[in-house]
Amino acid sequence: MNILIFGPNGSGKGTLGAKIKEKYPVAHIESGAIFRENIKGGTELGKAAKAYIDRGDLVPDEITIPMILDRLQRDDCKGGWLLDGFPRNKVQAEKLDEALKAKGIKLDYVVEILLDRQVAKNRIMGRRLCANDNNHPNNIFIDAIKPNGDKCRVCGGALSARNDDQDEAAITKRHDIYYNTETGTLASAYYFKDRAAKDGFKYVTLDGSKSVPEVLAQMLSALA
Ligand code: AMP
Repeated sequence: MNILIFGPNGSGKGTLGAKIKEKYPVAHIESGAIFRENIKGGTELGKAAKAYIDRGDLVPDEITIPMILDRLQRDDCKGGWLLDGFPRNKVQAEKLDEALKAKGIKLDYVVEILLDRQVAKNRIMGRRLCANDNNHPNNIFIDAIKPNGDKCRVCGGALSARNDDQDEAAITKRHDIYYNTETGTLASAYYFKDRAAKDGFKYVTLDGSKSVPEVLAQMLSALA
């Protein structure tokens, strides 16, 4: 099963992706996480991407598109994938569509998480990353997933905030990109929405204002 997932930063995409992976044999490919790993590892790719990420800008397509298309060729993607964070603009959408068609790979689902922009912003500013597992949900502004003091609510690991999550200008920039329906991320989601019937995949929308278990339930019933 091959899935594209769209949602603004703060909509719970990453957490949802990790849960879907527990249920279906898909590789969870997160473009942002690939960049963060490369930055941590001090690779050339990481060095090239860091300044863009810190500002909340998109990493240039010349770097991002080949990185993702290469990633989708790895063995763990043979049984299917859930692609999260890519495409982020219309050019990436066109290139992905082209590359998949050239390889005869079919999309099964395109999922869009609907969430109000202000709600998404509050969620981002409150989220904390667990040192042991990125997908342990911790958010100081959401009662259901409040950390245990300054420790991860799931495993007690050390928590930190992402640099780009505490910078309001960077969040605004990321959301300007996401909510842009002409050239931005929503334009790339709608690119696929327009092709769903013709190309034979389902376009599904989820109500992202609900709790993670509720959004997960919506998604699982859509995939069933
Ligand atoms: P995320 O973890 O999805 O919020 O991504 C963090 C940052 O990585 C974004 O703000 C961008 O700077 C960069 N990034 C992630 N995915 C892409 C993409 N598809 N195209 C360009 N930049 C990206």
